Amino acid sequence: MYDVVIIGGGPGGLAAAIYAQRARLKTVLVEREYLGGQIASSDVIENYPGFPSISGAELMEKFEEHARGLDLEIKLCEVESIDDRGKEKVLTTSEGEIVTKTIIVATGAKPRRLGVPGEVELTGKGVSYCATCDGPFFRGQRVVVVGGGDTAIKDAVYLSKLAAKVFIVHRRDKLRAEKILQEKALSTENIEMYWSHILQEVKGEKGVEKIVLKNLKDESNCELEVEGAFIFVGINPSTGFIDVEKNDQGFIVTNQRMETSAAGIYAVGDCRTTPLLQVATAVGDGAIAAFCAGEYVEENE
Ligand code: NAP
Repeated sequence: MYDVVIIGGGPGGLAAAIYAQRARLKTVLVEREYLGGQIASSDVIENYPGFPSISGAELMEKFEEHARGLDLEIKLCEVESIDDRGKEKVLTTSEGEIVTKTIIVATGAKPRRLGVPGEVELTGKGVSYCATCDGPFFRGQRVVVVGGGDTAIKDAVYLSKLAAKVFIVHRRDKLRAEKILQEKALSTENIEMYWSHILQEVKGEKGVEKIVLKNLKDESNCELEVEGAFIFVGINPSTGFIDVEKNDQGFIVTNQRMETSAAGIYAVGDCRTTPLLQVATAVGDGAIAAFCAGEYVEENE
């Protein structure tokens, strides 16, 4: 039986793993795709202390190297369900069962879909949810970015270095993104703002050709010719497999010890309710959860 199973290999999961290994807890980290999480596809991170500018992939390689250096056991498989039998918790995974005393959920979140006509049909044919993955396909072309949060504005700036023109379509007349990102975007020559507009439809046959926008101030519609549509309208947590208290959007509710509504189950990073979704905060969550899981194991021995 493991002391701790960590589900998810992003910053929160890897930080929890480093603390759990150093506490000599019998630990396994379970990941369904690749280590690093969503942030590994970020072109540049400029707010992780100690690293004024580093790519997401490079920072996550350092996390992974650190965890592997502590002989962390890693299983590549998907957790399908959890049977919480109190002091013993049984995880059913695509590779069989795992029995553990505690669980740290660090499954993060996935980009939210907008739900407009053409979005699903043209995904992978010009509609994208990842600027660093797909941006290079749009060199010298015209693209639209939908959203006004950190992801949209940061990635619009990244795309402006590749594309000829970037239109940002935002539903309000004020951005949500960090001020420093706003300043960068609003001072970039080839970025044009469409304030108080929403994307209504993505049109095209083999690829994106046009988008239809609605002006929320005067209700008028207009079309823009673009080859790419990047949609960054928030995230949905990957928490469907676990039965603990969640908020109405599916984010796991925790207290400041990262404890969920189930004893011995903790949640960290982007999958939990938190005012700030950052690498720095996920790391702090991971450290706290591993420490508290260690206390729980000791108290229940
Ligand atoms: P977010 O902060 O939730 O922003 C989503 C944006 O999409 C908002 O501007 C929102 O508009 C807009 N939106 C939502 N639903 C929409 C709809 N149906 N139609 C049109 N627009 C819609 O999401 P995010 O940018 O993906 O960021 C997620 C989290 O990661 C945030 O906590 C963020 O701070 C963090 N993050 C941080 C960094 C960084 O530090 N550099 C980078 C990336 C992400 P409203 O503003 O009107 O609500």
